[in-house]
Order: sequence, then C-alpha cells, then structure tokens
Amino acid sequence: MEHPENSEEYKGLTVNSGVEQPSNVNPYLKRGCFKHRTLTANDYVEGILKGDVSVLGQAVTLVESLNPTHQTVAQEVIEKCLPHSGKSIRVGISGVPGAGKSTSIDEFGVHVLEEYGGKLAVLAIDPSSERSKGSILGDKTRMEKLSVHPKSFIRPSPSAGSLGGVARKTRESIILCEAAGYDKIFVETVGVGQSETACHSMVDFFLLIQLAGTGDELQGIKRGIMEMADGIVINKCDGNNVDKCQLAASQFRNALHLFPAPESGWTPEVLTYSGFYGLGIKEVWEMVYRYIDFVKTNGYFEHRRNEQAKYWMYESINEQLRNSFYQHPTIKTMLEAGERLVLEGKQTSFVAAKHLLDAYFALLH
Ligand code: GDP
Repeated sequence: MEHPENSEEYKGLTVNSGVEQPSNVNPYLKRGCFKHRTLTANDYVEGILKGDVSVLGQAVTLVESLNPTHQTVAQEVIEKCLPHSGKSIRVGISGVPGAGKSTSIDEFGVHVLEEYGGKLAVLAIDPSSERSKGSILGDKTRMEKLSVHPKSFIRPSPSAGSLGGVARKTRESIILCEAAGYDKIFVETVGVGQSETACHSMVDFFLLIQLAGTGDELQGIKRGIMEMADGIVINKCDGNNVDKCQLAASQFRNALHLFPAPESGWTPEVLTYSGFYGLGIKEVWEMVYRYIDFVKTNGYFEHRRNEQAKYWMYESINEQLRNSFYQHPTIKTMLEAGERLVLEGKQTSFVAAKHLLDAYFALLH
C-alpha cells in the first residue's frame, strides 16, 4: 500500500478547494471534483499542526521548491511552525552504500514506534541523489514495514543540489515534521563525505553503521566521521559473520579510546546487530535513549541544539550570499569572461575574483 503523501496527487502544491464543498469535508483531503486552489501559509500551518500527512508532504515539497514564490510561503510556514518544533529526538543514521541503512531503518523505526510510541519521520540528506537512478536515501520501497506504518512519514532526500542547500531543506523539513507531532526524527545520510557533517549538525545522536569482514575495518573510515559518532554499530552480525563483527567491534572500541573525549562527556559505544534478522535492535535503541538521558541531565542536549541553531544561521547567510552573487545576471556574464581570462593566463585568479566581487558590490548600490 502506498503511503498517502507518496502519491503524485499529494505532492502538488495545490489542493481542491471548497467551491461546492460541504462544510463537513476536510478541505485537505477531499479531492477529485473541486477546482484547485493554492494553499496559503496559514492553510499549511493549520494542516501541519493538525498532523495532516498530506499537507505536511506538500509543505515539504514547498520547502524543496526552487520557485521564489514557493520559497517565500515556505519561510512563512517554517516561521509559524518553529514555536511548535524542537520536541523530538533527532537521530542521524549514516553508513556507506550497502551497509544496510534502509534495512536497518525499517527495523529501527518499527522498533522505536512499538517500544517508545509516538510518531517517526525519516528524512535524508544526499546531495548526489538523482531520482532517476541508483538507490535513493529515504526510499520508501526499501523500507517495507515502515512505509505502510500509520505513524511514519518517509521522505527521500531533496533532489540534487549544493550540499548546503539540500541540508538546509532537510533541516527545515525537520521543523515541519516536529510541528506535525513527529517526536522521533531519523536523518539518513550516506557515509562517504561531507554530508555527515551536515547531518551531524542537525541531530542529537549520530549513529554510524559499519560492516565487518575486510580485516582492516578502520582504514577506510575517515577519522572525522568516527569522531562525530555517538554510537558505532556493526551490522550484519549474523550467520558466519558473527565472529568477524565482534572482532571489528573490539577494533573500533580500541580506536575510539585514542580519540579525545567528546564534549558531551559521553563515551561512544560500539555494538553489533543484524538489521536483516532483527537481532540486537533493542540494545541499539537502549544505547540511544541512554545517551539522550545522559545529555539531557548534563545540559549538553540543549547546548548542542543551540550550537546547531547558531551554525545554521551562518550557513543560511553563506548560502544566501552565494546565491545572490552567482545568480545575479550581470555577474553570471562577467563570470564567464573572468574564467576565460584566468584560463588564458591574462589575469590571476585573485585579481579576477576581486574584480568580480567589486563589480557585485557596486551593483548593490
Ligand atoms: P543501504 O545501501 O545502506 O541502504 O543498504 P541496504 O539496506 O539496501 O542493504 C544492502 C544489502 O545488505 C541488502 O542486500 C540487504 O539485504 C543486506 N543486508 C542488510 N542488512 C543485513 C543484515 O543485517 N544481515 C545480512 N546478512 N544482510 C543484510
């Protein structure tokens, strides 16, 4: 069964409005025989606060839209949802392709919903995602149980764009989901590059999924990614793989000892589990909740969220300045010329950059 917000109908930014609509019909859900009208910011907010999944899905589409009109409405919706957000636990889940993220998130999600109640939203950050090919993070078809769970909302990564842009949209979607009553947020990201940093900057707990079996598990992992992890979990600890996974776990534990103590005061834990066979899932989530209790008690939870809010303020400024510069029609033309001069060796990169920036600042006056 398809989750409602997955259907094309729900993805549009309009709903059928009530010209002939009986008063007892939910304007967000009744479709088919009424003419379309665009939702106002207040319509979105009202629907979101009611926990209406279809309106939430449309609001996320609005956030992801590049259309400036949509963006203006989206910002208003986000601002109005902000006071209703924040009351969730946000968990980043990262791992290289094939680590078992989708399989695990499916199991993890069902487990936390059954064990801890509430509602779960699964979002993703994947700046490289192209919807037409390859595996897509947050892909519902790869999360069979969760995708039909009435308490879940799954949304794939915003389509390809700059990492900053994609990550900002995911962060804004978190706000909308929380306002809609989702008190558990998973942010899936692929464990190969900078998207971890972006993911880490919006979650309370960063879970790194690893695999055993290569004999030199630690070599391929960037130190920075390991340092970000609040928990490392070795997946596929089943069948013939159990010994290898336990060996890998002890290697990770040893390696973590060499890192400086995290600011949170928490000692990152290393566990083994099997997403496919549902083994060790409970222990993974007991660890996450133990961490949340720990950092809520010592004040780090609040501190990390404040630091993240600050980080995102600067990120937004950077992104908007960059966009304003690169999208200015005059600058666009000048960039081509500047690039040519640099390539032909007629101007140094520095002089070309200065020339372009001076021109940009002059255009602002
Ligand atoms: P992703 O690319 O990180 O999302 O990984 P997937 O969830 O798509 O899993 C990649 C492959 O590993 C699939 O063939 C899964 O069936 C398999 N897999 C995932 N979890 C486990 C596990 O716990 N044990 C075993 N043996 N295989 C698994």
